[in-house]
Amino acid sequence: MALRFYNTLSQQVENFTPLDGKTVRMYTCGPTVWNYVHIGNLRTFTSQDILRRWLQYRGYQMMHVMNITDVDDRIIQQSAAAGKSIYEYTAEYEKAFFEDASKVRLQRPEKICRATEHIEDMVRLIQTLEKQGFTYSSEGSIYFRISSFPEYGKLAHLHFEGLKAGARVDSDKYDKDNARDFVLWKARKEGEHFWETPLGPGRPGWHIECSAMAMRYLGETLDIHAGGVDLIFPHHENEVAQSEAATGKPFARFWIHTEHLMVESQTMSKSAGNFYTLRDLFDRGFSPESVRYLLAQVPYRKQLNFTLEGLKAAATAIERLRNYELRLKTTKFAEGKNVKIEERTAQALKSFEEAMDDDLNTAEALGATFEYVRETNTAMDTGEFLAGNVPAALDFLAKFDSIFAVLEPSTVDQTISLAEIEALIAERTQAKKARNFQRADEIRQRLLEHGIVVEDTKEGVRWKRK
Ligand code: AMP
Ligand code: ZN
Repeated sequence: MALRFYNTLSQQVENFTPLDGKTVRMYTCGPTVWNYVHIGNLRTFTSQDILRRWLQYRGYQMMHVMNITDVDDRIIQQSAAAGKSIYEYTAEYEKAFFEDASKVRLQRPEKICRATEHIEDMVRLIQTLEKQGFTYSSEGSIYFRISSFPEYGKLAHLHFEGLKAGARVDSDKYDKDNARDFVLWKARKEGEHFWETPLGPGRPGWHIECSAMAMRYLGETLDIHAGGVDLIFPHHENEVAQSEAATGKPFARFWIHTEHLMVESQTMSKSAGNFYTLRDLFDRGFSPESVRYLLAQVPYRKQLNFTLEGLKAAATAIERLRNYELRLKTTKFAEGKNVKIEERTAQALKSFEEAMDDDLNTAEALGATFEYVRETNTAMDTGEFLAGNVPAALDFLAKFDSIFAVLEPSTVDQTISLAEIEALIAERTQAKKARNFQRADEIRQRLLEHGIVVEDTKEGVRWKRK
């Protein structure tokens, strides 16, 4: 079966090949660099990393463009509050984003582009829309008239015929009940960052940047446009309207949207106290690979329920795979090749590939992998697994890891497992209860040698990596 993805535009699973048969021209909406990315953002970015790795596995070249939103309502507010320019303010979070991204092993897109460096492209696109009669001005701002684009709503599959003509919104984010003519260019406001342009002084609305940068680097019709489900409306709907109104051509052939991550079945939010950045998880001692594994294991179109228990299970799963790899590499198996096992290996690889071709079904791909690991571990115990079976098994594992990328340990100390750390901490707590302070100190010292700091807090014992 061919490689296929669910396309939000058609609401169907469709076979995928890039337009030119070779290179996938893909655009993904990148981070708004107003804060550290949270694990919800990282879920979407990880799913896009899996997507691009799988496209390459299937022999395609990538031309992947990702933007950095470095000017928007929140950035303007926060930078003003911090007494910094938007450039100073966003530089720190942009740097942090790339550090986090490389920790969870996200391949770097071929092209990264900042909104603030593409104001001219946006101005030109707005001018094109103006000339063709899709816009109007009011008090120095320019709006896109959605009634002038009859297909408005086709991506989100919403109908807006009844809307009052001329009503408009200035904010970048709004819901479908507030769908109105949206802002392309915002008039200058006192104290806000602005650009002097042929459109007048002001700054772009959020939506225009993605249309302008995507078309600049990828042409008028992209193969794939991706983002989180929250972006379907209004952001991506507005991108479709602006781009297609300007060019008269389809903007993106495939729209791929990642479902949200929830925390303990709740929407993640600062106020609910269930908000995690990657850095929070490192402080709790989890490795980047565990986070990556957890984010990758649920197929991207299903909601992912994030729990700390789930992260521990991810660490255990990775350990199993690493132990398996070590066993393959270090055991002296009997000579020869077991044909049945060779067939089983080929079949495991086929199941893995079929699962990934099927709209990136990572859960099934992992299922196929673990079933194979379990069966061949047993075959090693019984002596049926022979030296000649090793190369194909290692090849399968390498192919698995070219997508999941969890086998190689990070620089975080891997010589002590999570289970061992927790057992030592429990033993230390017991020792303290029994007033055996010498043993408690020994354990603290041993953990410290692994870079692990133990803290006694009111809520109990906590530990983190230095
Ligand atoms: P932002 O930095 O807010 O522009 O978001 C960056 C990406 O993260 C976008 O593709 C969002 O759709 C996505 N995103 C935001 N929250 C979540 C979440 N809880 N789960 C999954 N993706 C999310
Ligand atoms: Zn975007």
